[in-house]
This record gives sequence, C-alpha cells and structure tokens, in this order.
Amino acid sequence: MQSKELIFLKPDAIEGKLVGKIIARFEEAGFKIVRMKKNLISKELALLLYPDSKEQLTGMGNKTLTAMSQKGGMEMVTKLFNTTDPFEIGKQLNEWNRKYASSTEVIACILEGEDAANRARALIGKTDPAIADKGTIRGDFSKDSIYMGNMERRACRNLVHASDAERAPVEIGYFEKYFF
Ligand code: ADP
Ligand code: MG
Repeated sequence: MQSKELIFLKPDAIEGKLVGKIIARFEEAGFKIVRMKKNLISKELALLLYPDSKEQLTGMGNKTLTAMSQKGGMEMVTKLFNTTDPFEIGKQLNEWNRKYASSTEVIACILEGEDAANRARALIGKTDPAIADKGTIRGDFSKDSIYMGNMERRACRNLVHASDAERAPVEIGYFEKYFF
C-alpha cells in the first residue's frame, strides 16, 4: 500500500555534500518526493521530534551499551553517563539529539511510496554507522559511530532521520506545522 514517510537530511549530510547521493538512493528505490525544504528545526519542533518516551530512550540507551561492549566497556559508560541504566543514558542522548537536530539547517522531505516507512528505514540502515550494512546510506556514507559520538558527548552523526512506521503520520503533522 502507498504511504508517506518523513525523512530529513541531518547537518552532517549537508556539510559532507552528500545531499544528492542520499536523495538519489530514495528516488532509485521508487520513492516520489512530495515536499522538500531546507530550514532550521526549532527548539519546539526538536522537543516534539525527540520526546522522552521510555521505550525510545531505553532503545537508544541500549545502543550505547551495545557499542560500548565492543569498545570502551562498562567503565567507560559509567564515566560518560554516570549510570549504566539504558533509560537514564537515553535521557542524556535525547538532549544531544535535540541540540544536534536544531544546530544548523536540515533538508526535510515527505516521501511517498509502497510501505514507505519500512522501506525508507531499510534504505538508511542501522542507527550506528559502524555496524550498518554496506549498501545502506549510513553504511556507505557515514564515517561516524555511536562510540565516537559518545566519547565526544554528542549525537551520532548518521546523516538521515526516517520516521518509524507508527510515528510517520505524527512526525509529518509536526513538520507540516513547524517546518514546511
Ligand atoms: P534511528 O535514527 O535509527 O531511528 P533512534 O531513533 O534510536 O535511531 O535514535 C535517534 C537518533 O539519535 C539516531 O539517529 C542517532 O543520531 C542518535 N542516537 C541514538 N542512539 C544513540 C547513541 N547511543 N549514542 C549517540 N547517538 C545516538
Ligand atoms: Mg528513530
């Protein structure tokens, strides 16, 4: 079934002059661009985009624990976050996310295509570029990693945001109101 998906190219995509290559991936996969605009994400929109939901925060916190279990270890986690609880770690990550997303302009698009959110998320690949598969946008174009981001106390620069399927209509609504 045709559906819509919200994506935005993060500051590192623009800085790295990767906009054309990333958009091409979506077009080559059959997506149609319905809307597209470069603008700043306001503090207000960043709060809506990265809400403090327990599930989301715990999920992000667990990504730090996974990344750190390969490198750095739990001692490093405690040093960086003062806790090893994924939910508590996630709260700090969300602050970094809001700051990064609203630091400089991004390019947001509403895409339309078959099973749009799930297919867009498959194209972008795993959150941590260090373990994202080759052939995905993050795997091919990002040189950052969750480990490097955590060590520098900042969000991981992984080029593109794409809504989860259940969040797509909600995030599209927020962007229609506060961005486009
Ligand atoms: P995704 O973007 O793959 O949907 P999430 O929704 O879990 O990933 O996280 C939102 C964004 O927060 C990620 O794209 C990434 O930039 C950042 N992020 C998530 N987890 C971490 C982490 N453990 N360390 C640093 N940044 C993170
Ligand atoms: Mg997400």
